[in-house]
Amino acid sequence: MHANCPSCNLRYEKEPGNFYGAMYVSYGFSVGIFLVTAFILYHFFSDPTLSVYLITISLVALVLFPFNFRYSRVIFLYLIWKS
Ligand SMILES: [Zn+2]
Repeated sequence: MHANCPSCNLRYEKEPGNFYGAMYVSYGFSVGIFLVTAFILYHFFSDPTLSVYLITISLVALVLFPFNFRYSRVIFLYLIWKS
């Protein structure tokens, strides 16, 4: 992630620990990923065993980690900078 915006030079991290709040957004994304994956497994793969749930949900969360990391910060920035 850039320290400053490439186009308008806005400094993203105004103070140390500015992005701790993004963890809550990331948590929301993670819960959504878990629920959607579990829903798909239950309804379209005829309710597999618990180990299949755990492995599949872990893999999906791992694959979507870059999305989760970046977009939780972006959404957090929009939430705290309303200007
Ligand atoms: Zn900008």
